[in-house]
Amino acid sequence: MSASHSYIMPTYSPQPISFTRGEGSWLYTADNTPYLDALTGIAVCGLGHCHPKVTQAIQEQAATLVHTSNLFQIEWQEKAAEALCTAAGMDSVFFANSGAEANEAALKMARLYGHQKGYKKPKVIVMEKSFHGRTLLTVTATANPKAREGFFTLDSDFIRVPFGDIEAIRQAAQDNEEVTAVLLEPIQGEGGLNTAKDGFAYLEQVQALCDEQDWLFMIDEVQTGNGRTGKYFAFQHSNAKPDVVSTAKGLGNGFPIGACMVRGRARDLFQVGSHGSTYGGTPLGSRVVHTVYDVLSNTDIMQNAVTEGNYIQQTLSEELKELGVTTRGHGMMIGVVLPKGTDCGSFVDQARDTEQLILNITGGHVIRLLPPLNMKRDESDQLIERLSRLIKATLN
Ligand SMILES: *Cc1c(COP(=O)(O)O)cnc(C)c1O
Repeated sequence: MSASHSYIMPTYSPQPISFTRGEGSWLYTADNTPYLDALTGIAVCGLGHCHPKVTQAIQEQAATLVHTSNLFQIEWQEKAAEALCTAAGMDSVFFANSGAEANEAALKMARLYGHQKGYKKPKVIVMEKSFHGRTLLTVTATANPKAREGFFTLDSDFIRVPFGDIEAIRQAAQDNEEVTAVLLEPIQGEGGLNTAKDGFAYLEQVQALCDEQDWLFMIDEVQTGNGRTGKYFAFQHSNAKPDVVSTAKGLGNGFPIGACMVRGRARDLFQVGSHGSTYGGTPLGSRVVHTVYDVLSNTDIMQNAVTEGNYIQQTLSEELKELGVTTRGHGMMIGVVLPKGTDCGSFVDQARDTEQLILNITGGHVIRLLPPLNMKRDESDQLIERLSRLIKATLN
């Protein structure tokens, strides 16, 4: 691991630790030291590591049929699509392999929608502090200039406005011609666990404006979807009815798969030949999605995410309020906000090395907790205990 030369491009600077096994809320190193996982591979393993039903589905399908092609009918893809679209209240789905690809499909639809109206340069309204992925188009939709720098991206395709400010979107519509869509995250994950000041009612305001202007309302649920906030999708906390919903991360519980779902104005945009993917929706990936949705819809796991998430937030804010620490978020997507100016440079390392706790930091000083949706009460208590001890040591 500490070799002087690595054959891997240095796009990440990994922490000096490697895990060899995972079970539920726990990760283990080769010497069997357990680490409490409050990150789940960045909101991916929502059902916990190596959920027995997912493991069984992968094993059985791997021994039966892994891949054919979208040139043929794929029964598991049909089943996965039905389960997913039913849960989301959407009409149909395109399966991709990642979140960025799911958003890329959404953005292609926005262009197509503009093209059909005769627009020469269709534009999409996106948010400050947004994150939508790393392909050329999705990185342009992303707010962070560091992610965009040097890639000569197509900035003029996007109009960026403050998140949560409906008037800013209205103004952008007046100042620009050829707007075709709004793309946003219901809770901004990478941007610092931000919710709109009007909460989920903001989504209804955006919905109304999109209806009025005949724009596509596109919601990026890559991180917030698949039960993470206590609903299948976070927009379901509101009455909004988006035209496009993208998701990935928790969709495969670690198996790489993404999805772009449509209804309403977007329903018929993609036709034969509009888009494609060699791997999207293989028998193996689709069966995993079907299994994940089987678990989400036939257990109390999403209720557990709400109960434990609220418990973690309440207990932490009680314990730490004197130190100026607050919490925010929904279900098992929790931000623990340290006072502005707190030096968080070594917080992640300390959590790992002194508390055997895995987490990360977003937005500079927000501890991001993304535990498994089915975390048990005694594990929540351990998380709270380890984290408050560390925060007290950091702030005192
Ligand atoms: C992680 C993430 C993406 C990108 O997903 P990848 O699978 O890494 O391509 C897009 N949007 C949001 C909101 C995300 O959290």
